[in-house]
Amino acid sequence: MAGAQVGDDCYGDDPTVLALEARVCALLGKQAAVFLPTGTMANQIALRVHCRPGQTVACHPTAHVRIHEDASAAALNGVQLMPIGGRRGYRVEELEALIHEESCGWPKVALCWFENTLGDAGGDIWPLRTGDEQRSSQQLVRTYAETLGRPIHLDGARLWNAHIATREPLAQLAAVGDTVSVALSKGLGAPGGSLLCGTQALIDTARGFKHAMGGGMRQAGVLAAAGLYALGHNLEALQSDHQRAKRLAAAIADLACWSVEQPQTNMVIASVRAPVRHAEQLCEPLRAAGVLCYPNRYQEVRLAVHRGLNDDALDTVIERILKVVPAAAGM
Ligand SMILES: *Cc1c(COP(=O)(O)O)cnc(C)c1O
Repeated sequence: MAGAQVGDDCYGDDPTVLALEARVCALLGKQAAVFLPTGTMANQIALRVHCRPGQTVACHPTAHVRIHEDASAAALNGVQLMPIGGRRGYRVEELEALIHEESCGWPKVALCWFENTLGDAGGDIWPLRTGDEQRSSQQLVRTYAETLGRPIHLDGARLWNAHIATREPLAQLAAVGDTVSVALSKGLGAPGGSLLCGTQALIDTARGFKHAMGGGMRQAGVLAAAGLYALGHNLEALQSDHQRAKRLAAAIADLACWSVEQPQTNMVIASVRAPVRHAEQLCEPLRAAGVLCYPNRYQEVRLAVHRGLNDDALDTVIERILKVVPAAAGM
């Protein structure tokens, strides 16, 4: 970062930002990309690019854009997020039903929304294809939306994890979205930065909104350099996070006060059982013992494994959980 060549990103001449944008385009198989400070801004700009105020967006009920962005879809962009499906995504039939309601006077579904991996579902993968009728397939939704001319945005803040867990090429995972956002600051471990990718025309429009929203960052090459480093050095290492998450889940699964889901990527979700009523009853003493965590939902503890946690540290985490949690649960 200290040695990064910089220019002025507001004038589009920061060489390190341009190199990062080109690198992410190549990885995702997209024409153009714009570097942004956060994933939240990337999502809000995606809404702005695809929708007009008064239109709706089809998304699963617990999409990050719906529950973790302070309702800014409505506040900043004037769009309504219409929930369909469940926390692991929606099926093509559910989208079809929503779009049919337009003929009954419901507002136009201007955009369909994907998220991969699914943050609220503990980093589960929304599969491209599936033989399971109950699970949604992104490719089926994509084909259906395309025939009706409805664009798709893929919130891929955690797309790198889906790629490493499934070995599906990044360009395949990204192909379902007309626009795709990715984060450098989650599992990859860069201090900040996200990119929004798509066609040249969409990203040209997005650049205008970036300035309008205050996302111009001048000598942003300092930050882009960290992103380039993270892509070059930290992508494959996500595999270790996933293995450690599985080890963590197995080690804490026998505690009676919660039920633990088998993780698909780097997050372990534990749903609390009576007599524990609120996940914070366990999170608070865990944090006091140095195990940083928080409630994913009010009755779910979320434990996220990351590159700062090696095997020894994980042993310590497991030891402390096994000691602190039963005591806090009064069991
Ligand atoms: C973290 C995250 C975001 C937002 O990213 P920020 O950089 O924290 O604004 C958006 N979507 C998903 C799925 C995320 O996990």
